[in-house]
Amino acid sequence: MVRWEINPQIKRLIKIIGKQCADWGINAYLVGGSVRDLFLGKSNIDLDIVLDKDVGIIIIHLAKIFSARYVYHPQFKTAKLFLENISIDMATAREEIYYSIGSLPQVRISSEIERDLFRRDFTINAMAIRISKGGLSDLIDPYNGLEDLRKRRIRVLHKKSFLDDPTRIIRAIRFSTRFDFSLEENTLIWLKEAVCRDVFSRISPVRLGNEIVRLLQEKNPLKAIEQLRQLCSLKIIHPQIRFNRKWRKYFPQIPRWSRDFGRETSQSVEEWLIYFIFLTEKLNKEALQRLCLSYELEKHKRLLVLHALKLRKIEKIGFLHYKNSELFNLLKPISPESIIYLIIRVKGKLLKKKLFEFLVRFFKTRLYTDGERLKELGFSPGPIFNKVLETIFLAKLDGFVSTKKEEENLIEKKFLSRQ
Ligand code: ATP
Repeated sequence: MVRWEINPQIKRLIKIIGKQCADWGINAYLVGGSVRDLFLGKSNIDLDIVLDKDVGIIIIHLAKIFSARYVYHPQFKTAKLFLENISIDMATAREEIYYSIGSLPQVRISSEIERDLFRRDFTINAMAIRISKGGLSDLIDPYNGLEDLRKRRIRVLHKKSFLDDPTRIIRAIRFSTRFDFSLEENTLIWLKEAVCRDVFSRISPVRLGNEIVRLLQEKNPLKAIEQLRQLCSLKIIHPQIRFNRKWRKYFPQIPRWSRDFGRETSQSVEEWLIYFIFLTEKLNKEALQRLCLSYELEKHKRLLVLHALKLRKIEKIGFLHYKNSELFNLLKPISPESIIYLIIRVKGKLLKKKLFEFLVRFFKTRLYTDGERLKELGFSPGPIFNKVLETIFLAKLDGFVSTKKEEENLIEKKFLSRQ
C-alpha cells in the first residue's frame, strides 16, 4: 500500500479537479514531478495533470470554478491554471515520436496514460496517480519508478532516451544532484555513449541554455557543475569554458552574500546569474554576448552579465577610500548580482565589507523628492529631473543629506539659487 503526505490545500484542489473531470467523463491523472515529489514528501506547488481528452473541453469550466486566470494553447492541447500560489499545468495525454537525434519529436494525441508516460525522461518522473476516481487513487507505474525512488536512482525508460533528447543528460545530472541519487548502471553507460556521439551539437542552444539555467537554479550548483564536468565536460556550454578550482571556494559564498543582502534590504537576488557570471568569466565580450543571445536571455540579464565582465577588470583598483558616490560612478549600473560577484572576487575583508555596505545603502536609499515635488518647485519635466534626483541620491549615498528639509536645501543651493 502506497502512502504519501500531502498539503491539505493541494489535496482539496486535486479532489475538486478530479471530481469535475469525472463529471465530464474525463479520466485525469497527476503525473511527473508532482507524483515524484509526493512520494518524496517534498512540497511541490507546480502540479502537472494529464487528461485523456482535450483539455480545452474543461479548462474554462475549471477556471470559473476557481475564479482563476488561465491560458489555453489549442495547437498543443495544453493549458495552465493560475491559482493564488499554485500553478497547474494541464495537458491532453500524448505520445512523441523521435525521427532523428536531438530534433523535436512529432507529437500525437493519445488517450492512453501509459503512452504519455513512455515519452518521459526518467522512471521516477514517469508515474501517474488517477485523480478522477475520488481523490488520489490508483498509482500507474509501468516502469517501476517507485522502486527507483526507493533505491535512490535515476533510470531512463529505454536505451535511446538520451539520443532522442540530449537535454535529458543535463536533467539526469540535475535530479541526481538534487536528490543525491545515483545514475543507474545502464543509464550511465547510455549517457556516456550519447556524450561520445556529440549529441549536444544537435540540439538548439535555447533548449540547452534552459537546462543549464535550471541546473544553476538548483540548491547546490557546484555539485551539479562538477558532475557535468565529469560526465560531459563544460565545453558543452562553450568550448572555452574550463572548470576553475577556485569555484569551490567562490560558489558557496553566493547564497551567503545573497541571504545577507536579502535580510538587509528585503530584495531577492537571482543567484543563478552569479553562478553563470563565474562560469563564463573567461570568455571575451563578443563570445559572451553570442552565448547570452543564443540562450535567449532577457535583455537586462544579458546586460548584467556583460557588465560583470567589466567589473572584473576593475577589481584590482584600491577603492577602499572611495566615497559611495564615487563607487556608484565606478560600478554603475548597480545590480545586486554583479556587485555580489565583485564582492566575492575582491581580496580583503575590508574591501568586501565596504562593497557590501555600499550595495545595501544603494538599495535602501529613498528620496522624499519626486517628480511632482520638482514641478511644484518650478522645474519643467525633462533631463533636469534626472539630474536633480541623481544629485540628491548621491548626496544621500554619501550621508551628506538625510531629511526632506536637507534634500530641499540641496536643491535650492545647487539648482535654484543659480537660476
Ligand atoms: P522540477 O521539480 O525541477 O520542476 P519536474 O519533474 O517537474 O522537475 P519539469 O521540467 O517541470 O520537471 O517537467 C515536468 C515533467 O515533464 C517531468 O517530470 C517529466 O515527466 C516530463 N519532462 C520534462 N522534460 C522532459 C524531457 N526533456 N524528456 C522527457 N520528459 C520530460
